[in-house]
Amino acid sequence: MSEKTLLHQTAALLGDFGIAAETLTNGDLPVASPIDGSRIATIRRHGRNDLDGMIAAAERAFLRWREVPAPRRGELVRLFAEQLRRHKEALGRLVSIEAGKILEEGQGEVQEMIDICDFAVGLSRQLYGRVIASERPGHRMIESWHPLGPVGIITAFNFPVAVWSWNAAIALVCGDPLIWKPSDKTPLCSLACNALLGRAIERFGMPDEFPRGLSQVAIGGAELGEALADDRRLPLVSATGSTRMGGMVGPRVARRFGRTLLELGGNNGMIVAPSADLDLALRAILFAAVGTAGQRCTSLRRLFVHDDIADTLLDRLRHVYAQVKIGNPIEPGTLVGPLIGEAAFTAMQQALEEARRDGGQVFGGERVLADRWPDAYYVRPALVEMPGQSELVGRETFAPILYVMRYRDLDEAIANHNAVPQGLASSIFTTDLREAERFTSAVGSDCGIVNVNIGPSGAEIGGAFGGEKETGGGREAGSDSWKAYMRRMTTTINYSRQLPLAQGIRFEVDAS
Ligand code: NAD
Repeated sequence: MSEKTLLHQTAALLGDFGIAAETLTNGDLPVASPIDGSRIATIRRHGRNDLDGMIAAAERAFLRWREVPAPRRGELVRLFAEQLRRHKEALGRLVSIEAGKILEEGQGEVQEMIDICDFAVGLSRQLYGRVIASERPGHRMIESWHPLGPVGIITAFNFPVAVWSWNAAIALVCGDPLIWKPSDKTPLCSLACNALLGRAIERFGMPDEFPRGLSQVAIGGAELGEALADDRRLPLVSATGSTRMGGMVGPRVARRFGRTLLELGGNNGMIVAPSADLDLALRAILFAAVGTAGQRCTSLRRLFVHDDIADTLLDRLRHVYAQVKIGNPIEPGTLVGPLIGEAAFTAMQQALEEARRDGGQVFGGERVLADRWPDAYYVRPALVEMPGQSELVGRETFAPILYVMRYRDLDEAIANHNAVPQGLASSIFTTDLREAERFTSAVGSDCGIVNVNIGPSGAEIGGAFGGEKETGGGREAGSDSWKAYMRRMTTTINYSRQLPLAQGIRFEVDAS
């Protein structure tokens, strides 16, 4: 694959989305494809002044957008979903080129965007409040939800389009304009998404100022993210990325009493019990541990296998790990694409070295295809049998490393499963109802996502997505996650001729 090919493919894809060729050459931020390490664009980075102007435009757009009835706002999201359906193949391919995901998963991300848009369209007619019984005669209490204001969205490289759309589709129907700071490793995907949303806005027919103010993209790194976190004009900052990033963004937003929605690192586990259907478990482990080259927040990183079946399962796992097809993610049949870059490769090798020092037996993990693509980082996924859950196993290494540990007692396995700082996704494979119920009960997994006979990754958008502890506590996508994007109002209406006070308090004056 020549540099020219990827460069040209990228320009052609972005050209179809209406992005001018000059945008891809006139800048100071080089963008590389992890497929072969070649440069696919050089775009302009935004500074603090640019961001300041964007936030001012978003504030202006908010004043108009909040008055558009929610079901009409839903119509804009419906039009956006139309664009996504039309360009699913192209946008998915761009995700593959820029983030290194296999085509199937790139397309899957766009499908997820379509799904959340459909959800948000329905939601736009269901932003329900409630009527609450008042203790006072002739009074009524109402809880209602109003638009919040412009939302700052910081996203990670590994879901360069879907995570934004979870926020964007819901925020738009809730009445909030968007300012998106994508990862500086995947800025082209954000330009493409914003261009497609721009087309939907055009068809929707908003006044001139809207296309800019309703949805904007700020290109830059951590310093731009920090400026966004500090800005009081953004009542909500939704930030997806590492726990390290969340630890910086959270306090900054809190200092100005803003609201955060944090979706941070995971260290996801699976328990395989003696009664498990091993064929299902094997497939689930493979997809969750090896898919996206181990670069999902929900990737499976820790496997607790019952002693009775551990040898059988490990033999089968080694067999499939040795065969899994690693290579160019845009070639059909590939299951494992590249790591995002050299730093990810180095972190993986350091973790494997540490695992060996901790007494781990490492299978796989070596660099492959370096002759063909010296500037790209392809690895064989690693399977590491550990004598116990060391400090290393408690950390999220964002690469395809699966630590395997044996257990005898389910409660002990659950305790070990929960003994890490993160709390995103988890699963159990068992056909024993008691075990399944125990794992999903209050004394079971402490994660936000707890699955039975399904791996920890690959969530549907209908549920609330997010996790506990150092994963940040935020919830996005389905269920009632929309409430984070709105302002709750409690109203009491007195339709009587008296003025009784709550709690029966008497406070009389002679006003005659
Ligand atoms: P990262 O933390 O390096 O970067 C994420 C985003 O935060 C980027 O846009 C980056 O520019 C920005 N950023 C970094 N430092 C910042 C700062 N000090 N202030 C403001 N913004 C800052 O993460 P990454 O390498 O792009 O992505 C991988 C990580 O993201 C993993 O830890 C993964 O588990 C996590 N992730 C979590 C979820 C989830 O939903 N829980 C989803 C995807 C990825």
